[in-house]
Amino acid sequence: MTISFDLDDTLIPGTKRFDTEKQTIVQRLLRLEKIRLGTIELFKALRSQGHRIYIYTTSFRSILQIRLTFYLYGIPVDTVINQPRHDRELGENKTRTSKFPPAFHIDVHVDDSPGLKIEGDKYNFRTIIISEQDRTWVRTVLEMCETLEHT
Ligand SMILES: [Mg+2]
Repeated sequence: MTISFDLDDTLIPGTKRFDTEKQTIVQRLLRLEKIRLGTIELFKALRSQGHRIYIYTTSFRSILQIRLTFYLYGIPVDTVINQPRHDRELGENKTRTSKFPPAFHIDVHVDDSPGLKIEGDKYNFRTIIISEQDRTWVRTVLEMCETLEHT
């Protein structure tokens, strides 16, 4: 499957707070953002199961910066969709939903926003919504992906 992940408040703390992975001196010098504790384990597990990993964010971070952030943690991602790319590829439909994973052939999208689940139910795309309090979020995602793969 192709699985996409939101950044803000899902993998990168913002208004929501959670523990983050350790950074090397290089990552700190480059001022790259810290990612949620467990992301490395999760991405490696998904990768070993043959899944593709995308980042889908409504932020304006550059694609290069996002790629570098994950690459330097040893977990490169396959594709990055930021707001400019979403706008470009969705064209006149860009404001219909905040994100529209089917446009990028994504099978399931992982996010913190309950509103996106409502959009997904309405426009027929699959989401996994993760709370910042979910300390076993890695297992939550792996189990949900496992279930979805067989439906
Ligand atoms: Mg978010």
